[in-house]
Amino acid sequence: MAEPAADATLRMVVLGRQGSGKGTQAARLSATYGPPHVSTGDAFRAAAASGSELGRTLKSYMDRGELVPDDVVVGVIREHLFGPGAPAGFILDGFPRTVAQAEALAEMASLRGIDIVIDLEADTEEVLQRMAGRRVCTKCGATYNIVDNPTKVPGSCDACGGSLAQRDDDTEDAIRRRLEIYETTTAPLIDWYRQRGLLVAVNAVGDVDAVTARVVAAVEGARQAKAAGQKSAASQSKGKGTLGT
Ligand code: ADP
Ligand code: ZN
Repeated sequence: MAEPAADATLRMVVLGRQGSGKGTQAARLSATYGPPHVSTGDAFRAAAASGSELGRTLKSYMDRGELVPDDVVVGVIREHLFGPGAPAGFILDGFPRTVAQAEALAEMASLRGIDIVIDLEADTEEVLQRMAGRRVCTKCGATYNIVDNPTKVPGSCDACGGSLAQRDDDTEDAIRRRLEIYETTTAPLIDWYRQRGLLVAVNAVGDVDAVTARVVAAVEGARQAKAAGQKSAASQSKGKGTLGT
């Protein structure tokens, strides 16, 4: 396959259950295509670590496995992605998670819209296993898995040498609660985006590189389809001459 062409203006959303590999794949999409990887979970954990009042509030939701209220999350996204100095494109990981958030995103993205939504498919059994083995670098946030994506030196980050830890919300209760909320509140987004023609489903079971190859192939397919659609729409409107007839 030819090298995918970078495009820092791409706007993508990555959906999937907790533990489906959203963070890892979103970081790789960012490296391949150029737009920044924007993770609401990482942003909230950084705020929590800062110990600010907002951070403490966020942490209380996260540690219970509950969603942070929509208005708070939408406010953060609006400021970072649609305020002054916002990047042209983005790879969103962890947002939207409710239909209300998806509607807010569609409104913020306005005419320009969202280009592609990737759904990383992995069932509950699979992700439960993965989350039990998940370890995160306390310094740079890179994620690993002691079972299927271990570091070269146990307990120490390959990227920065930082020490690894389990996330505060990777307790059994919080994991169960997050997966429950995923089924009731986040899964409906898959249909929401499918109906809007933006969804591409990717099998997220298998080794990390194999999943990345599937994700990139899916993105390339969607980009080609979009380019072909734009071309034919342009030639149709040319043929018609006037709009609206
Ligand atoms: P996971 O996908 O494993 O639950 P994340 O790192 O994406 O983990 O998010 C951690 C926590 O941050 C969530 O459980 C939730 O409390 C909060 N959070 C992240 N994104 C959102 C969002 N879009 N809406 C509400 N809460 C969110
Ligand atoms: Zn690190």
